[in-house]
Amino acid sequence: MKILKTIDELRDARKSISSNVGFVPTMGALHQGHISLIKRARLENEIVIVSIFVNPTQFLPGEDLAAYPRKDEADKKICEMCKVDYLFMPEISTMYKEEETLVKASNRSYILEGKARPGHFDGVLQVVLKLFGLTQPTNAYFGKKDAQQLLLISQMVKDFFLPINIVECEIIRESDGLALSSRNVYLDEKQRKDALLLSKSLYLAASLLTKEEKDVKVIKNKIYEVLQGLDVEYVAIVDRSFNELEEIEIGNSIILLVVKFGQTRLLDNIWL
Ligand code: AMP
Repeated sequence: MKILKTIDELRDARKSISSNVGFVPTMGALHQGHISLIKRARLENEIVIVSIFVNPTQFLPGEDLAAYPRKDEADKKICEMCKVDYLFMPEISTMYKEEETLVKASNRSYILEGKARPGHFDGVLQVVLKLFGLTQPTNAYFGKKDAQQLLLISQMVKDFFLPINIVECEIIRESDGLALSSRNVYLDEKQRKDALLLSKSLYLAASLLTKEEKDVKVIKNKIYEVLQGLDVEYVAIVDRSFNELEEIEIGNSIILLVVKFGQTRLLDNIWL
């Protein structure tokens, strides 16, 4: 595995590749969720590029940019074990100049996550577009865990006619159901226990569906019952274009929720 730090190094590496490239962008502190994306990229491509970059433009003032977990040495080992070909780990000054062309996400970036974090998705798209330009992947891998991000990246690829296939990857969970996230390390013991209610409420919703219950109001109420006592930021039931639904459409519905544990916002969702 080659570790690349500069734009020139990555450009030179990319020029030498004539086969399929699978690309997995991350912010590091790699866990089994990231590893599942990397493994899939490894299976489906001749060359795998992973990036680790804690992207400042997607953090709002006051968010956890400075405290965001960083585990560079452990991450390098994980990438090596997963047989990654190139690991790109740039500095902020390598990726950004003072004056820049900006990417603006579509209006759907201002609901749900984007309402709580206005401008967050502009920063995500900005960095992903830069990374796509550098890595020119055949396939790029993203987790369904960040459902709205996945949708907006797919839309950007379509809108800018980028010749990149976006691969949607399943959510990886702990054995007790908690969706893996680099931010789970912020949880104390009680919060970690309470956090199980997120997946529990989603599984309950899925089980209601198997009993033919499709009314969004009924399902939302059941979810809120399970989450009682927690600081719920939102529960939303949307189609794959993020329009709110009144009735669940199997194959085209996502239930998303965010619960706050102190400063930590935990996201979870289920694709129905
Ligand atoms: P991050 O490092 O948080 O920016 O995440 C990098 C990629 O890993 C994104 O595409 C995430 O959606 C994906 N990811 C994060 N957690 C999980 C998970 N538990 N299961 C599947 N994919 C995940």
